[in-house]
Amino acid sequence: MKLNQCKYCFNMFQSPDTRVVCDKCKPLDEALFSSIEDYLKKYPNSNAIQIAEGLEIPTFEVVRFIDEGRLQFSRGKFERLK
Ligand SMILES: [Zn+2]
Repeated sequence: MKLNQCKYCFNMFQSPDTRVVCDKCKPLDEALFSSIEDYLKKYPNSNAIQIAEGLEIPTFEVVRFIDEGRLQFSRGKFERLK
């Protein structure tokens, strides 16, 4: 078992593998991720700032999905913020 901290509620929880979201916050995470996916379907070449502004969420929420390997962008269309 691994000890993890949820990125939303910051509670510590255990799971067999490394996770960043607890079970309680999972629906929140899925909803946020699918709204980003929908946004990218509508505006395919958006960068993190445009997505964040379009969805009215903090930019780091978008960047975090990239860190988690759940969002990918090709040909330099999506650039990581320094
Ligand atoms: Zn949580």
